Amino acid sequence: MFYLTTAIDYVNSRPHLGTAYEKITADVIARYKRLSGEPTWFLMGNDEHSLNVFRRAKEQGLDPKAYCDRMELEFRDVWRRLDVSFDDFVRTTEDRHRVAVTELVHRIQAAGDIYEGHYEGWYCESCEAFKQEKDLLEGLCPNHKKRPDWIREKNYFFRLSKYQEPLLRHFEAHPEFLEPDVRRNEIVNVIQGGLDDISISRAEQAWGIPLPFDPRNVVYVWFDALINYISALGFGGADTTQFDRWWPASLHVIGKDITRFHCVIWPAMLMSAGLRLPARVFGHGFVYFKGEKMSKSLGTIVDPLEAADRFGPDPLRLYLVREFAYGQDGDFSWERFEERYNADLANNLGNLVSRIATMADKYCGGRLAQPSGVPGRLAQVAHDAVASYRQAMERFALQAGVDAAYGLVDATNLFITETEPWKLAKDAANAGQVAQILYEVAEALRVAAILLLPVMPTSAAEILRRVGAPKPGADHRLADAAWHGAGDRVTLKGDPLWPRIGGTKG
Ligand SMILES: [Zn+2]
Repeated sequence: MFYLTTAIDYVNSRPHLGTAYEKITADVIARYKRLSGEPTWFLMGNDEHSLNVFRRAKEQGLDPKAYCDRMELEFRDVWRRLDVSFDDFVRTTEDRHRVAVTELVHRIQAAGDIYEGHYEGWYCESCEAFKQEKDLLEGLCPNHKKRPDWIREKNYFFRLSKYQEPLLRHFEAHPEFLEPDVRRNEIVNVIQGGLDDISISRAEQAWGIPLPFDPRNVVYVWFDALINYISALGFGGADTTQFDRWWPASLHVIGKDITRFHCVIWPAMLMSAGLRLPARVFGHGFVYFKGEKMSKSLGTIVDPLEAADRFGPDPLRLYLVREFAYGQDGDFSWERFEERYNADLANNLGNLVSRIATMADKYCGGRLAQPSGVPGRLAQVAHDAVASYRQAMERFALQAGVDAAYGLVDATNLFITETEPWKLAKDAANAGQVAQILYEVAEALRVAAILLLPVMPTSAAEILRRVGAPKPGADHRLADAAWHGAGDRVTLKGDPLWPRIGGTKG
């Protein structure tokens, strides 16, 4: 059972490459889990109760709900074109969400963890977050490079301070709760430094979910947003089948900038409400563009659809997973994208797919019979590749996982170079040996394609078709990656999967 979520997004602009990075990498994990045969539920969604969203709608002369409806279609369109395979998509303006927020707030209040007070301090409208003096850089919000507002209002507070010790105990008992390590150390330091109670309401606002016990206030957008992970499962509603089946989450995938919300506030909310905590949180790094975080106001936006529309989603997905170690930051450039496309796809994998189909066609009429003797030397390489792939993917080391698959591709290319089947084929006496070599190559490619399915779902399925896999790509499981797992086969020729590109983009 694997329940996986991503952060939900503000809908004040279309998703950029930085946002897409999170969804694509989470999708790779979800697809890997399905490939391993684990029942998987993958949730994404939109965060709509934001004042920025409200303002953006007003700017466009739209009712905020109508604006959010339109943005939902845009987001879904982008995710579809990037082949992101979520099972459910939650919106915080949905009724199921309001029901869950109301129920959770009730439970937290019943636990004695909500009280009335006054908040006075900094508030960054763009982050929609309360800021302490120590969060600011020379008086400015470090994310938005502008001065937050000083606000003073009557708020309701959540007794976060009460959960300092329980949280520390949880981190100690579950070192895997937050990864990578560098994020865990940061958060443990924050908790050890002492936790202040936090404001969980905004006064005199109409856009949001009313506090059940004082409806002139709405639930603070962050407190509201975190609850999506259980509202989508029907928590607090009439039918809790999904909640009972999937909660607690196996993994929250989030950006490193929101670990405090997910690893301090969220678990404390759950503890207060008597609910179980998610098993793991993974805080990924940022993909920068020319050294800057992608931001509309800074003009550093890369549109993921620009790459996906030209080359299909798979080259972009492969690039994002293979170029950067998951958990660390990376820098996107079009030059580097083209370089990797040519190296990894056009020259390497694509060329190998063409070669095997051409040779099998030429020397064996496209028919390859499974050899009866001892498997050739690629068998061991493939076996090891599957083992290291599995090990890497289980700990979300996505880059190492893809590298394991590519190790097998490289070994297969080398095998062809060394065995020179085109030379052997000149003498009819070698026909058996040639057929065996080509079978082994097709088999290695079949195994590599299975490993690449989570990263490149469409093209890996096409490779499987061309090397004569006995079933469609999507029906494969990791167990199918066993050597000689597919019997006799017929290979198919086709157009080059990835023609070389170059110099088209500055
Ligand atoms: Zn800010």
